[in-house]
Amino acid sequence: MRVLLVEDEKRLAEDLVETLGAAGFVVDVAEDGKSAWFKGDTEDYDVVVLDLGLPQMDGLSVLKKWRAAGRSMPVLILTARGNWTERVDGIDAGADDYLVKPFQMEELLARLHAILRRSAGQATSVLTAGPVELDPRQMRVSVGGSPLALSPLEYRALHYLMHNRRRIVPQHELLEHIYGSDDGRETNALEALIGRLRRKLGTNIIETRRGFGYTISVEGETAPEASSTTS
Ligand code: CA
Repeated sequence: MRVLLVEDEKRLAEDLVETLGAAGFVVDVAEDGKSAWFKGDTEDYDVVVLDLGLPQMDGLSVLKKWRAAGRSMPVLILTARGNWTERVDGIDAGADDYLVKPFQMEELLARLHAILRRSAGQATSVLTAGPVELDPRQMRVSVGGSPLALSPLEYRALHYLMHNRRRIVPQHELLEHIYGSDDGRETNALEALIGRLRRKLGTNIIETRRGFGYTISVEGETAPEASSTTS
């Protein structure tokens, strides 16, 4: 899952990058409103953590501009303690949730996972596909009830595919969402990664649709149609 973190307090931003990274997120950081707006407008994020007090352009204006431009990614706003009008304005402007500073990292992660769950239209916290279960809160994967050890990259790829299981995920999109922006983005490496993942899972739930991308497909369930591909 790829997250845009918008926070101008350096120390807090560093702590957040560490926490989010350890929780399996790929993190991009913006330290002011203008670059935040640009990144959110041009890149594809699964979720955004947006501080409201920012230099150059305040967070509320950034959020309003995104929404006016049709950018619909889920947004969690960070607000100052005691400023309840800010929270109301944020929700009105299209925020999906808020967190009051200072907050516990655990609460931030719980809220982010809840937002992602809602955005995927899921009722439960654990993602399932046939015998495969993935628990994003614990970063645990099991097949038929037996725990499975995956590398961070394998985990991120499986999580992204299972999160988007109602559609076909193009290769370039999967690459974007599992690698940090500075890492190489090689299609060959992705094919090798998917191959390793399939072998480890021991069950063929990841289907390749030549010319389209990958999709989660479970026997007995209706597979997504290629025409449903959107990004
Ligand atoms: Ca701030």
